[in-house]
Amino acid sequence: QRAAGPREQRLLGLLSYGLVALGAVSALLLRFIPMPYGRYSSRRFGWLLPARPAWLLQELPALIVPLALSACIPSWRLPNAVLLLCFVLHYVNRALIFPFLIRQGKPTPFFTFLLALLFCIYNGYLQGRSLSTYAEYPSDWLKHPCFIAGFLGWLIGMVINIHSDHILRNLRKPGETGYKIPRGGMFEYVSGANFFGEILEWLGFALACCTIESLAFALCTLFILSSRAKQHHQWYLEKFEDYPKNRKIVIPFVY
Ligand code: NDP
Repeated sequence: QRAAGPREQRLLGLLSYGLVALGAVSALLLRFIPMPYGRYSSRRFGWLLPARPAWLLQELPALIVPLALSACIPSWRLPNAVLLLCFVLHYVNRALIFPFLIRQGKPTPFFTFLLALLFCIYNGYLQGRSLSTYAEYPSDWLKHPCFIAGFLGWLIGMVINIHSDHILRNLRKPGETGYKIPRGGMFEYVSGANFFGEILEWLGFALACCTIESLAFALCTLFILSSRAKQHHQWYLEKFEDYPKNRKIVIPFVY
C-alpha cells in the first residue's frame, strides 16, 4: 500500500502549501472582484454555460479521481477507507445530486467553470492520493478523540450545508429567478449558512484525517467561502432594507 515513495510525498506537501496559497490569493482578489458566478455572473469571464451541466462537470473529477486512485490499492486499512468515503460522499452530493436540484440557477462563465474544474482535479488527487497511499493511522484510530470530534464536525457541517442549500433553493417558485431574504435554519444566525456548513465540514474532516493535505483543503475552503459569504452579506444589506441587522456573515455570533 505504501510503495510510491518519498518523492511523491514531497509533491503532496508542495501541493498542500500551493492550495493554502491559492485560497489566500483568491480571498485577496475577491475583496476587489466578486467570484464571477451565481448573482455575480458576467460575460466578461467567458461565454456562459448553463448552471446544471457546469456544476456536474466541474465537480465530477473530485469524485472520479479519488475513486480511480483507490481502485489501484490492493488492501485497505479501515480508517483510510472511512475517511476517503467521507470525502467521496460529499462529492456524490455536490456532483451528482446538487446540480439536478438547482432551480433557475444563473449560468456559469467559462473561466469560473475552468478554475473549478482544475481545482477539483488538483484537490481530488491531493486528498485521494494522501488517504489511499500515505496517511498512516493506528488500528484503533476510529476510537480516537480527534477522529470522533472531527467526524462529528464533518457530519454536522454536511447536514447544515445540505439543509441550507435546500432553504435557498426553495426561496424560488418554479420559473422565478430573483432573490429573497433566506430565513430558517442557520440563516437566522449567518448570511452564508451553506458556506458555514461547508467550512465546518472540511475543518472536521481535517481533524479526523490529521494530514497536511486535509488541513490545506480546509484552510483554502475557509478563505474562499468566507470571502463569498462577505460579498453576499454586503449584497443583501444593500438590496434589502429590512435585512436582519443582527445576522453575522458566516460564523454564528462571531463574524
Ligand atoms: P449561493 O448561496 O451563491 O447559491 C446557491 C443556490 O441558491 C444558487 O442556485 C442560487 O441561485 C440560489 N440562491 C442563493 N441565494 C438565494 C436567494 N437569496 N434567493 C433565491 N435563490 C438564492 O452558493 P454557491 O452557488 O456559491 O455554492 C453552492 C454550494 O457549493 C454551496 O453549498 C457551497 O458551500 C459550495 N461551494 C463550495 C466551494 C469550496 O471551495 N469548497 C466553493 C464554492 C461553492 P443563483 O445561481 O441564481 O444565484
